[in-house]
Parts: sequence; structure tokens; C-alpha cells
Amino acid sequence: MQTLPALLLLLSFATAANAADPPAPQGSDAAPRATFAFHSAFLMNLHHFLYDMAVHKDKLTGLAWHAKPNQKEMAALQNAIAFYRARYADKSLLHDPAMTAIKRALTLDDAIRSASGRGLPAELTAPLNRAAPVYARCLWPAHDRSNRDWIAAVRKLDGAYGAAIQAGIERHLGAPFPVSAIRDDVVFDTGTRQGAYTDDQIVMPSSRSEYQDLAALEMLYHEASHTTVTAALEAALDARLKAAGRDRDADLWHVAQFYTVGAVTREVLAQSARLPYVPYADKRGLYAGHWAPFMPAIEAGWVPHMQGKLDLAAAADVMVSSLPPARAEETLSAVKDVASSWLVSMDGGDYGKSWDEASTFLKHDFSREYAQSTFQSLRGPLGQLVTRTFLSGELIKVPDGDCFHLQFNSRFTNEEAVIETVELLREKTGEWKVSLWAQRPAKRN
Ligand SMILES: [Zn+2]
Repeated sequence: MQTLPALLLLLSFATAANAADPPAPQGSDAAPRATFAFHSAFLMNLHHFLYDMAVHKDKLTGLAWHAKPNQKEMAALQNAIAFYRARYADKSLLHDPAMTAIKRALTLDDAIRSASGRGLPAELTAPLNRAAPVYARCLWPAHDRSNRDWIAAVRKLDGAYGAAIQAGIERHLGAPFPVSAIRDDVVFDTGTRQGAYTDDQIVMPSSRSEYQDLAALEMLYHEASHTTVTAALEAALDARLKAAGRDRDADLWHVAQFYTVGAVTREVLAQSARLPYVPYADKRGLYAGHWAPFMPAIEAGWVPHMQGKLDLAAAADVMVSSLPPARAEETLSAVKDVASSWLVSMDGGDYGKSWDEASTFLKHDFSREYAQSTFQSLRGPLGQLVTRTFLSGELIKVPDGDCFHLQFNSRFTNEEAVIETVELLREKTGEWKVSLWAQRPAKRN
């Protein structure tokens, strides 16, 4: 979790640095070097192994065993996998608080093999303890070897190229890596489609083909930059998306992050060692496939930012205006939010505020005083709001641009069944604002 003072520090750093700044000088002024605390921890591996087997039903039969399990051992393992399948297989390792709590509880010394007394959910302790002996004998020696080999290889690469990669990423993303060591739990596999995942600690798979050799270095810094380094970029894009009346975008900043870390890694490897490198996302065809709709935004806003031609805020501006038009359902959800918060002042009888927050079209046609008395005469007699449920939303083309026509089924203390209509127009700034409010009794059948 980010503490507030740390966040403020991060934000002030973000405004102070921009892409046009010269590279950080070497010596005492240089940003502190990011450091990693690598672990090949037994219980963290066992947990992810059981999750992986629970999610991928056929994987157990095709496993490369270090030693073949006997019947009793196999039964203990299958029992634990069945528990994981019932409890956890549908849960996200990154986004589900229960999975985060388990990971935290298992953030232990590498050698610890007993799950007892670790603050885990009570029902999880027994399956882990039952599976631990068979995992230890039949799989762990090979898994631990894979993890240690991966750690040794990435440490060497980090020692040679890490400082330059860190400096490049910090320069483009406008925020520093954490000062304290980042814990990186290396496990044989995570069981997730993407592989690695990070909150303020990294869980990294050592056996995946796409995480080997030079890609290990890129993915180490990609994951590490998820801790604190994308914060300024996310904030800049969120602010611009909000101003444009669009939903927060979970992909746009992540594409820019992938692009940055990949490009910096490629440049550093080319310049300092003449090593050819194809970044992870290029190699896996992500920019041409799933992320293709974001590439005009990257090319128009983010690439100029990386070249020092646009600061972060200006880049975010260009990126958001280069996005494909919002999907209809995205717009509807944004418009519903605007209508709901506008209705709060109507329900509170603050009709002056309703006028203040209304569209320029409404303000142009009605004075504040006229709107106040009209709202008072139409809304006042209905009484207190009891319930309001969304009924329908429709986008209509009008001469002034786009108009959203929303209807709500509402109940008030003085009127049981009312249809409320709220219309919203898109302002020149891209923001949606209320241009009409009306109410009528709902028809009863
Ligand atoms: Zn990522």
C-alpha cells in the first residue's frame, strides 16, 4: 500500500521531471538504484503450484516429476488440488483480496515448510501441510533449481544493464522506483495466463519460455515498474479521460508501460552491448493484435513524449484524443454517473446548484432564477426521494451534437410511481452535462 506522504513525494517528483530533462547525472544526484530481494520460497511455490494445477485440469498428468509419487502421495496431492479447485480456481491472484491475503501470509523465509501458525485461513493450513511432503520429495528439487537458475541469470543481467534501464524508465514515466528492496518471489509457474503479477511485491514464473534470457530482464523491470513507477502516467491519463467524459481505461497506461520498458531495454542492450533484442509485446504480437486500437495513441502522444517533445500531461492529452470513439456502453455508464450526481442537488432542493452544474445550452435558454423556480414547482411537490432505478438510455442525434435521453423509475414520499427524464448534451470540452429534466406519473396497468 502506498502511504500518503510517499504518494505526495511521488507526485511532486512527477511534476518536477519530464521527458525533456537531461538523463539523471551519475553520482550523488542519481536516483537510488532499484534493488530486488529474490526468493525461491517453498510455501509460496507450493501455493502457486496447487493453484496452477487447480486451474489447468490436465496439467498434473503431464508433469515432469523429479521423483514419481506413490499412490498415497498422489492422493494427498489430488486432495489439495481439489480443495484449490473448489475454493480458489476462479479467483484472481492479483485482484482478489483473499488471494492477496494468502500471498502476504506466505511471504516467509524460503526454507519454511509448515503452513501452521502463519495466519492463513484455517481450512487452507491442512491441505498445504498434507501436500507439502509429496511436493518436497517429487517436485521441489526441480522447481527450486529452475527458480535459482532464473535468479542467477537475471541478477547478472541486472548488474550489467539494470541501472541504465531503470534511469530510462524513470525518465519517461516521470516517477521513481521504490527506495526499499522489492521482494520478488520466483515460483516455477503462477498458473495465470500472463505469468507474472505485482502489487508491491513481484511473483515471477521461472519456467515460462517467454520469461527467459534477455526477456527476463525486461519483465523484471516491467513488473517492478508496476509498484510505483506508473503512478504519474496513470494519474495523467485518468485526469484526461475524466475530463473527456470517458471511463478509466485499464489498458491504455499498461500499453504505454509495456512500450516504454520494452523500448528502453532494447536501446540499452543495443547501445551498451550491441545485443539485438525484440521486446516482449512485439514478440508476442500484442501491438498488432489485442492492443492495436491503442497504437495510434502511442504513436501520436507517447512516442513524442519519449523523444522529449511532449511532457506527460500534453502526451496524455494527445493520447486520449487519439483513442477510438468510446464504445456506446462506456458512454452510457459515464452519462449515468453525470446524471446521478446532478440529481443529488435536485433531491436536496438545491436548484441553484442544479443550474450551475447544467449544460451551457440550458443556461443559455433559462436564467438561474427562472430555472430555480421551475425546478421548485416541478420537483418540490414530489417530496423526498425513496428509490430511483435506471429504466433506459438512448443516444439521439440532435442539431447541437449528441444527446443522451435517460429515463428513471422513481418513487417519492408524495408520489409513488414517477418517470423521470434526464437529457444530457455533450459540451465542446467533451463533457456531458444535463440539458433537461422532466417528470410525469408512470402509467399503471
Ligand atoms: Zn504489466
